[in-house]
Amino acid sequence: MTKTLLAAIACILTVTATPIVSTAEAAPCLIVTLTGTQSGPSVFNGQAGAGTLVRYGDDSNDCGATKLQFDAGRGTNMRLSQIDVTPVQLDAIFFTHMHGDHTEGFADIMMLRWYFKGPKTDIVCSSDATSILGVTNSCRKYVTHIADAFLQSGEIAERRSEDNARLAGGPVDLTNVITFDPKDEPQLVWSSGDVKVSAIRSTHTAGHASYRVDTPAGSVVIGGDAGNDAPAPPRASSTSDQVEKLAKGVDIIVHSAFHPVMGPDRDSGMPPPIFYRQSLASDLGAMAKRVGAKHLVLTHLGPSLGAVIHNRWKVPGGPLTQADYRKAVEAGGFTGNTIVGTDLATLRFPAK
Ligand SMILES: [Zn+2]
Repeated sequence: MTKTLLAAIACILTVTATPIVSTAEAAPCLIVTLTGTQSGPSVFNGQAGAGTLVRYGDDSNDCGATKLQFDAGRGTNMRLSQIDVTPVQLDAIFFTHMHGDHTEGFADIMMLRWYFKGPKTDIVCSSDATSILGVTNSCRKYVTHIADAFLQSGEIAERRSEDNARLAGGPVDLTNVITFDPKDEPQLVWSSGDVKVSAIRSTHTAGHASYRVDTPAGSVVIGGDAGNDAPAPPRASSTSDQVEKLAKGVDIIVHSAFHPVMGPDRDSGMPPPIFYRQSLASDLGAMAKRVGAKHLVLTHLGPSLGAVIHNRWKVPGGPLTQADYRKAVEAGGFTGNTIVGTDLATLRFPAK
């Protein structure tokens, strides 16, 4: 073959290859959305239970090639429907811990996924963990029994009799449970292509875990309800040392936050152990500053914005506003972007 012919072929190849290259170079993007911001078992003002949706992709798929749900409190499905995400599209669901305000929406999500006929999805959470009082928290059992009531009521069999393409075991047949032993160092617990999820042990209940998602577009830490390992003051911070380790250099921190007004030095009536096992907005501000985060997203607010009563306890001094939480974060020294979470609050990375 002559040099000229080779050059001509190379030229054709280059031209042919151009559209493929430009697709591959479509800008990667990350979208983080709060699917629910309620803190604790109570209901307030239509707020959904705790949860965060992390979407990653590029402009060609509206940043939605991969969709990960972290926790799934009451009403998660309703919030997802407001942003056109169906349960079928979730690539994996992660749980920080087995408290109802983080798990109650799971049956709803999985029943609808089953009704739509799948596919299977990964459920990622801690392996069974026993508390110092001898009580075992089991994500695996929670997931394994998620269909029981619907099997017992006859609904699964009834809908199957109308369409036997649906699986006989109900929603549990669509779950692939992946458990891990939370450690004091980050460990990779799930990945798909460019998306990597790592987890670390954190204190709240036995088996509580916090997560970090790394993508080429940015990174986010989901702290859950993490607090410090020391159950009460004196301690350097109410935040978790492990979450801080996990969050080094992260772009976004999403974290449950309590406001100092609920503390035992005021008259809220909240039992100190419940108050102390959460992170304070002020300490989260200090932690976000130390790790160099760009955005701090407070969620699962205790108390809820505008609430006179939080769960069973009064809010000393009256209802709080977003400005009150912002002030607490600033007192911690954080000068980045603070979002005081409301349902469906969204952060896109990079910003549009
Ligand atoms: Zn909670």
